[in-house]
Amino acid sequence: MSLLAVDNLLGSSSLVERMPGLTAWLKDLVFPPTCGGCGRVDYQFCAVCAEKLALLPVEYREHHVETVDAVFATGRHAGILADAIRAFKYAGAPQLAEPLAARLDALLTRQLLSVDVLVPVPLSGQRLVERGYNQSELLAKRLSEARGISCNPSLLRRVRHTEKQAQLSGVERNQNVEGAFAADGAHGLSVLLIDDVVTTGSTLRECASALRNKGATAVYAIAVSASG
Ligand SMILES: [Zn+2]
Repeated sequence: MSLLAVDNLLGSSSLVERMPGLTAWLKDLVFPPTCGGCGRVDYQFCAVCAEKLALLPVEYREHHVETVDAVFATGRHAGILADAIRAFKYAGAPQLAEPLAARLDALLTRQLLSVDVLVPVPLSGQRLVERGYNQSELLAKRLSEARGISCNPSLLRRVRHTEKQAQLSGVERNQNVEGAFAADGAHGLSVLLIDDVVTTGSTLRECASALRNKGATAVYAIAVSASG
């Protein structure tokens, strides 16, 4: 029986609509996923690369970003760490939240911060629709469970869509995110911002400004990797 025939039997709504998993299955069959680390046709991130990531030591890097009290990252944005983050963000591998958040947790075990709440850097609504999930929110939720600190994504929101920072120069990045965030209900709170990659820090700076404007007493940030 053809798909069309099955579709007709089911009535007016299409088979694809009734079975969203079918679309993904057909897509995988026609375009098999390749590993974001080594490129082999297998899975978005293969077991060999996952093992490499697990063995990568957690570094303790501190960066200076204006208006943020301290910014930490668990390693340089290169090699297997950069590959994992790319697969996590762009190749539909949300399961990488677990090993990547474990790195954040390990760093925080060394750097004890007194924070009241974890706040992921928000995605624009448009990007959320494209990706299906906010990678920073997945990290924040994992970290929240691991450390017993509450996570409140609604404290901060994007008030306008911005271009992808990765494609812009330093000055353009600043202009791109200026005034792009607004905060609510941050009065008296010490906040830890969660992001995947810190580059120039312009996104974190804007987030911190928005939170401070609404009364946050301290704003720290932690990212999986740092470039530059
Ligand atoms: Zn691989």
